[in-house]
Order: sequence, then structure tokens, then C-alpha cells
Amino acid sequence: MSSNYENILKSIARTPRRWLVTGCAGFIGSHLLATLLRAGQHVTGLDDLSSGKRGNLDEVLAGVGEEGRARFRLIEGDIREASVCREACRDADMVVHLAAMVSVPLSLQEPERCHSINVDGFLSVLAAARASGVQRIVYASSSAVYGDSSEMPLREDGVVQPTSPYGASKLADESHAEAFSRDSGIATVGLRYFNVFGPRQDADGGYAAVIPKWIAASLRGEPCRIHGDGSSTRDFCHVANVIQANILAAIEPLRGSHIFNVGLGSYMSLNELSAIIVSHLHGMRPSDEHPNPIHGSARLGDIVHSQADVSKIRSQLGFEPSVTVSEGIEQLMRIRADEIS
Ligand code: NAD
Repeated sequence: MSSNYENILKSIARTPRRWLVTGCAGFIGSHLLATLLRAGQHVTGLDDLSSGKRGNLDEVLAGVGEEGRARFRLIEGDIREASVCREACRDADMVVHLAAMVSVPLSLQEPERCHSINVDGFLSVLAAARASGVQRIVYASSSAVYGDSSEMPLREDGVVQPTSPYGASKLADESHAEAFSRDSGIATVGLRYFNVFGPRQDADGGYAAVIPKWIAASLRGEPCRIHGDGSSTRDFCHVANVIQANILAAIEPLRGSHIFNVGLGSYMSLNELSAIIVSHLHGMRPSDEHPNPIHGSARLGDIVHSQADVSKIRSQLGFEPSVTVSEGIEQLMRIRADEIS
């Protein structure tokens, strides 16, 4: 763990704050909830359980003891409802907004619903946060705002050209956050996550869901199925690093509105990724025979390369990713192997 992050976790434990986490029952939200409760914070979670799971919350709450559970309250509701957001923001010092329609294909099928949840919903959270006087709003943007920009590595001040309603909704949120911050004086921080992976990730989710899918297939002795020749690259980032970015973004002194990339700043091809999974299989399966990956046709619309430039978040927030892709994959494979043994 980076020393800056470690110090921040210690300092917030000494002076606990009240947090609102929207999307707390989701993949990333449940990890943030666990970290905040372990650090002695008071957390209100708001989630409509549309893609999030009650089981994620149960898992987190089982790990924080009676005293930790007493510092959590769940509001089951929709971020688009003003009264729900007002109740959720009551007494909050910090808001971390993660709730969203997260599926790019679904956003292409239902662009209006995507806009309603991701943009109208965000505005509803902003209005309630302002009325209750929160200190800071951290919200999830996405590398999808870059679309098919070819300026690698992708920098925050580079070209943005989203190719889906999902990417466009996240870009709209960034514009609203900037206008909101100027008008209200409340600092906002948008985090453009790259391909996040880790425990509790839905295998039917976004691009990084190749990781849980391939891990499950490999542990069954089946091949990884790769779309295209496997040379496409992504900046895969373990969820622990994303939680670090959220906490730094909420606590480090900042004014105005800010945007940061969150990734490792490196890239890995799908061929390399499948090789790493196979390399960790030894000792986890009875047989050492592992089938070679199967290559299918490339998917229309898939971005070929993606890599974050993370120099801004490193220099301005002291972000130091602590989990490598290989370590994260090995940890996930052990969890999955234990589950099925
Ligand atoms: P997730 O689907 O696991 O979590 C989203 C949560 O929001 C779910 O619990 C869902 O039930 C909740 N939600 C959705 N609509 C809601 C509504 N109208 N009202 C209340 N709650 C609602 O997804 P995730 O991967 O944890 O993503 C969290 C955030 O990070 C999202 O904003 C997503 O766009 C962003 N993001 C994720 C990735 C990634 O690789 N996972 C990459 C870029 C950005």
C-alpha cells in the first residue's frame, strides 16, 4: 500500500466522516463500502439493486463485525428520485457517486434510459448534495469518454470522442460537474476508470469481464475464447487501486472541478492476459494440460488499444497502484478455485 494512502486511511479513522455511496451494492461500490467501514467511517448506501446484488452487501457486512454494521444504513431507491437523494444526502460530508447504467451494449439499445439514469440521475444527486452542504463529490466517469481516440497513452486533456450513449453520458456528467462546481463552490472529482477487475465482478459486465469469464473457463479445463487475433490491448486495473483513487480523490485538498484517469498506466494484450491466467493454473487444477486459446472473429466496434496516462493522478493525488494485473489475477483465481473445490 502506498504510504500516502496508508496515512490517509489512518487519518480518516481518527476523524470519521459521513459518506454517501451510490451504487454501493455493485462491484466497485461494495469494495468501497468495505474499505470505508473498515476505516471507521459512517456510510449511507443508495442502490436500486438493478445490477447490484444484496449478496455483495451481505458479504461486506459479514466482514466488518457488529460495530461496523451499525455504521451503515442502506436506502433502496432510485437516484432519479429527488426525495430519495435528499434523504440519502442527509448529514453526508462526502458523496461518491457510482450508480449508473454500466453496460455499453444496453446503452446502445436504450440510449434514453441510459441518459435518464446516468445524466438525470447524476443531476439529482448533485442537487441533493448541494442542498445538504456536502464538502466533496467524487463520481465515476469512464475511459469510454475517449472512444476510439488513438492518442496513446490517453491523457485527460486529450481528444474525447465517445462512441456510445454510455460514453456520451459520462462526458455529459463531466460537463455538468464542472458547471455545478463553478456555481456551488463544491469541489467535484471525476475519475475516468479504465478496465476494472476483481472479486464480485459480474462476468456479464463490461470489457474487463473477460477476466472472470476466462478464469472460470480455465479452471474447468476449457480454453479462453478470444475475439480477434488477441493483439488488442487494455489497461486492466485491479479494484483495490480504484478504491485507493476514490479515497484520495475524496480526501486530498482540492478546489473546483477535476478529472483524473484511473488505471495502471500500462497495457496488456488479450494474448498476454490469457497466458497469465494459464501460468497461474499450476497447482490449482489436477491436470497440467491446458488447452490453447481459441480465436474467433473480432467484435464490431471494439476499441483496439487503450492505455491510461496516470501521471496526473500520481502527481496531484499521490496515487500509487499497489496491485499488479498478475497479482490481482492470481488472487481471483485462488478465490474461484476455493469456491469450486
Ligand atoms: P455495477 O453495475 O456493479 O454497479 C452499479 C450500481 O449502481 C449497481 O449496484 C446498481 O444496482 C446501481 N444502480 C444502477 N442504476 C441505479 C439507479 N437508477 N438508482 C440507484 N442505483 C442504481 O457496476 P460497477 O462496475 O461497479 O460500476 C460502478 C461505476 O463505475 C459506474 O458508474 C460505471 O459506469 C463506472 N465504471 C466502471 C468500470 C468497470 O470496469 N467496472 C469502468 C469505467 C467506469
